[in-house]
Amino acid sequence: MQFEKFKVMEFPREVLVGHNVLGNISDLVRKFGRKGSAFIITGETTYDIAGKEIEQTLVDSGVDCYVIRTGAASSENLEDVESAIGKKKPGILIGVGGGSKIDLTKKVAFDRKAPYISVPTSPSHDGIASPRASLRRQNVSLSENAVMPIAIIADTAVMVKAPFRYLAAGAADVISNETAVLDWKLAHRIRGEEYSSSAAALAEYASHELLEKINLVMPGVEESVWLVTKQILASGTAMAIASSSRPASGSEHLFCHAMEMTGKGNAIHGEYCAMGTVVSMYLHGGDWQSLKNAFNSLHLSVRARDYGIPDEDAINALSTAHNIRPERFTILGDVDLARGASEKALETTGII
Ligand SMILES: [Zn+2]
Repeated sequence: MQFEKFKVMEFPREVLVGHNVLGNISDLVRKFGRKGSAFIITGETTYDIAGKEIEQTLVDSGVDCYVIRTGAASSENLEDVESAIGKKKPGILIGVGGGSKIDLTKKVAFDRKAPYISVPTSPSHDGIASPRASLRRQNVSLSENAVMPIAIIADTAVMVKAPFRYLAAGAADVISNETAVLDWKLAHRIRGEEYSSSAAALAEYASHELLEKINLVMPGVEESVWLVTKQILASGTAMAIASSSRPASGSEHLFCHAMEMTGKGNAIHGEYCAMGTVVSMYLHGGDWQSLKNAFNSLHLSVRARDYGIPDEDAINALSTAHNIRPERFTILGDVDLARGASEKALETTGII
């Protein structure tokens, strides 16, 4: 039989991570920018934290640049950003923010076929280094196709100023690779889904590293930000190798989206992922307790009620989460989880 396998992998060209790397923005814009202006897409707070400095640096080096302030990653804000750019031609886009600003930027970059630089101001999830954008359309947040950043500037001196909650959530998003990879292996065995052992190994390496060093993840310590960010970047690379979010997104992410869709909770992405990872590991028959211990040491609660989600909604979310992405086969199967089973899994693991 003829060999017909092929794969397309997209990687960032340059990744700068560490203390005070923000100042390198002009070099990157010069290197990767096309003809046209630079657009900084940011929020009010994130402008103060990093956007302003980026703008100043670019202006000083003679780059024509505009600042667009926006809010959550919603289809409405996407339209607003698009119309703020209007007919001007972006030579490069720079997303400066915790997550939503980067999601919006990568979607605009995708639509306009423009390169973009990801500048995370907090290490709260693996979207800072991935080609997928999480966008809310009609109150439902789903991940959509976008593009990989051409460059990433992850300045630990900037990110350490974000509340610790975001760092803990970012660590949880990486730790969720544990169950994502188990789901991927399952889909490979049961459904014959394409599987990349190198992508899976890298995703597992990232989560194992963090689990091993979890006691070193502390508030106000720049090295903790470094530890987590490095593994976020490794997760992003795993997704790039797989050309899919599979190595970093399985049943726990389906549960995370189902919890978000209840519209009742106030947890952030990584916190829902933490709950999802614990309960998914239970369903896989694995060691969920040590995952829970790791989240405990990050002071990250996995109890739904702590985020305002009633038990009943959590039970429903787990039962029906498989519907969110039916093509993504996981331990949640392809029929609703029996109510009793869902309740027992959540109760045993302390989510409810
Ligand atoms: Zn995630």
